[in-house]
Amino acid sequence: MNDQQRSLTVLGATGSVGASTLDLVRRNRGRFRIVALTANRRVNELAALAREFRPQLAVVADPSRYHDLKDALADCPDVKVGAGLDALAEAADMPSDMVMAAIVGAAGLKPTMHAVARGTVLILANKECLVCAGDLMIAQAREAGTTLLPADSEHNAIFQVLDRTAPDSVERLTLTASGGPFRMLPMDRFATVSPDEAVAHPNWDMGRKISVDSATMMNKGLEVIEAHHLFNMPSKTIDVVIHPQSVIHSLVHYVDGSVLAQLGTADMRIPIAYCLGWPERLETPCKRLDLAGLGEMTFQAPEAARFPCLFLARAALEAGGAASLVLNAANEVAVAAFLGGDIGFLDISAIVSETLETADMKAPQCLASVMEADSAARRLAEAAALRRAARSA
Ligand code: NAD
Ligand code: MG
Repeated sequence: MNDQQRSLTVLGATGSVGASTLDLVRRNRGRFRIVALTANRRVNELAALAREFRPQLAVVADPSRYHDLKDALADCPDVKVGAGLDALAEAADMPSDMVMAAIVGAAGLKPTMHAVARGTVLILANKECLVCAGDLMIAQAREAGTTLLPADSEHNAIFQVLDRTAPDSVERLTLTASGGPFRMLPMDRFATVSPDEAVAHPNWDMGRKISVDSATMMNKGLEVIEAHHLFNMPSKTIDVVIHPQSVIHSLVHYVDGSVLAQLGTADMRIPIAYCLGWPERLETPCKRLDLAGLGEMTFQAPEAARFPCLFLARAALEAGGAASLVLNAANEVAVAAFLGGDIGFLDISAIVSETLETADMKAPQCLASVMEADSAARRLAEAAALRRAARSA
């Protein structure tokens, strides 16, 4: 890796993590050069970023937006324009020192796997990739010599305090969770909460899908699976504790009884900066932690009745086979239906649970079969969502 100036591709440049990443690049102009930027369909935002950062390639995933992007970048002949799934993969394939994987959902799987396969430093925010294809991704990274740097704040915290010289000395991991906006909500309100209430996260400013996942705590369930793959730890050694202040980002417990944690304010630019600068540290403008001002930190165990998605995710990890992939696909479908106003909040866990009961659980052996199993699980979840939407109409 070039330490004078690092080249970087951002997959999912127009999202919340993409924006935090590019904010840090903007503040460290000389240290990074942008190779490729991608977005789903927000052409104007992508064009503005491309005009600012001058990548070699700008890609919009939605092929129907190709001409819009081409027109928007007509005055930037140095920026090549692409559209569609193959162009996303082409962006990931372009030589760069680092790739930030910040697409949301399994849609990011193919381009992320392309980046993993070419042997680079992959900064992983797109946790759904690991949930869908963790074994394949870890094996591919090992084979290709790709370094995975976790951007998810909990995994980044663990990565920062993990003693890699003595892997056998790690006894347990604790992932902290804010508990989301519904930690204290009376349970009889759950049936009628709106998408806007669900995305109003108390501590973090994030994309809509992960915000709903935080409200159901599916996010923490996905993160248990993510931690299992990243740190090679079995489910029973990965604990979850609710910590509403979101100051301790996670903890590593060692065999001697020592516990190491990483702390900081709730700003994704801190873990992202750790990855961008790794193994050195980048300065950030993030608010500094003021412990006396904070006063106290509290902790509580997550309840199964309030947060069934967390427990479904752990059960899926322990079941193995295709269960984690099916869980993720069903959750993506259910969250989209909830955000679209078609189903209620409680239908999310019900659809995930129903899909897990009916889907094929055979473990896929290659990326193509992961994608087929993902599509099959989505079809089942869509049918379940339609049935529920019809019931509540
Ligand atoms: P977001 O919705 O704000 O942004 C998602 C990005 O992916 C956008 O650039 C969008 O254009 C792109 N995208 C969406 N659908 C796509 C598709 N079908 N094909 C190609 N591109 C597509 O999401 P986010 O909050 O930035 O989260 C991104 C990922 O990072 C998620 O996996 C999330 O779980 C993870 N993450 C986010 C945060 C956070 O604070 N936002 C924290 C930890 C982990
Ligand atoms: Mg997280």
